[in-house]
Amino acid sequence: MSVYLDFNSSTPIDERVLDYMVEVYRTSYGNADSRTHTVGDAARQVVETARKQVASILCVKSDEVFFTSGATESNNIAIQGLKEYALQTGKKHIITSTIEHKAVLETVKHLEKEGFEVSWVRPERNGRNSADEIKMLVRDDTLLVSLMHVNNETGIIQPVQELGDFLAEKKVLFHIDATQSFGKLVEELRAIKYDMLSMSAHKIGGPQGVGALVLRKKRYKFPPVKGIMYGGQQEHGIRPGTIPVALVAGLGKACEIAENEYLQQQEKCMRIKKMILKLLTESGVVYEINGEQKFCIPSTLNLSFTGVSSEALMLSTKQYCGVSNGSACNSNSYAPSYVLMAMGIPTEQVENSIRISWGDKMEYEDIRRAFKELLTVAKKLS
Ligand code: PMP
Repeated sequence: MSVYLDFNSSTPIDERVLDYMVEVYRTSYGNADSRTHTVGDAARQVVETARKQVASILCVKSDEVFFTSGATESNNIAIQGLKEYALQTGKKHIITSTIEHKAVLETVKHLEKEGFEVSWVRPERNGRNSADEIKMLVRDDTLLVSLMHVNNETGIIQPVQELGDFLAEKKVLFHIDATQSFGKLVEELRAIKYDMLSMSAHKIGGPQGVGALVLRKKRYKFPPVKGIMYGGQQEHGIRPGTIPVALVAGLGKACEIAENEYLQQQEKCMRIKKMILKLLTESGVVYEINGEQKFCIPSTLNLSFTGVSSEALMLSTKQYCGVSNGSACNSNSYAPSYVLMAMGIPTEQVENSIRISWGDKMEYEDIRRAFKELLTVAKKLS
């Protein structure tokens, strides 16, 4: 059986989350914004419990959590939702990086076309953006810095922690796309100063199609973000539309589990990474690791086998394991990864690169076996 090793793309749903969601679908089928009957009240209770669970893992207040359809929507609201404020204040300068997820890249590009000025930061060869470079780019008219916490392709942790205090002092809004760090780098996220944070439930064993935008209050005031859709007043107008109660419940449950288990999860994922690295060194196959490992999360490895095209490798190992190249969301188009290219990695090495990502609920032995098969194929193809 093929072993799934593409967790950064989407994770299998945790059985406990699924059980809870099924129960919610059966029992709390009301509209959480219906105020005229107890069915609505029950749904509202489920939603508010989930809101507390999301808030708890981040150590924020419940009313700072807004449910969305996922990180793409959260990123769009966080960035596009500042338009009115930008026009009122004349602050139209945005700083972001060239290795953001498309949900940030494309949204910022859209604003650039509308007359915003954008400073695009490029990462260093190690996969990290430089906090000093970002600090130097800040101007009086800087509206926003939008930076991901962990890159989805390389797993490299970006210097958001180093920027939080500085940007708060400069009164520049700070948005972090925490989609790949949420539920994993729990303590780090609690310590970072930010105004807005995006996440998706399906990266942490929750359901697809739900996520959150966290808006931190400063002196009782929310960041000046407006909803980008017209409709109802759900989620205070930040995200109109009927709240999907069971999905939100699943998100909350996944947060509760992550909060209880993140330390064991980190430890197990690190053990798996060490095993993979050991197999690599013992294999005799020539490879390069993309991104400096001291900055990498325990559950991701991006590597290139010299002389082995990733497309050929993925096709020939499909029966053993499921890995990806480029950003998974783009992996049906064969353009070389823009993230690795931005890091200054030579094109051939980029074309040979694959991303492996895993989770703590997996069997150690299954991964070992699958990775060994992958190495045997890589050796044959090289
Ligand atoms: N940001 C990052 C860093 C991601 O990895 C992803 C998912 N690949 C997203 C945003 C978008 O998440 P979703 O597709 O769930 O909206």
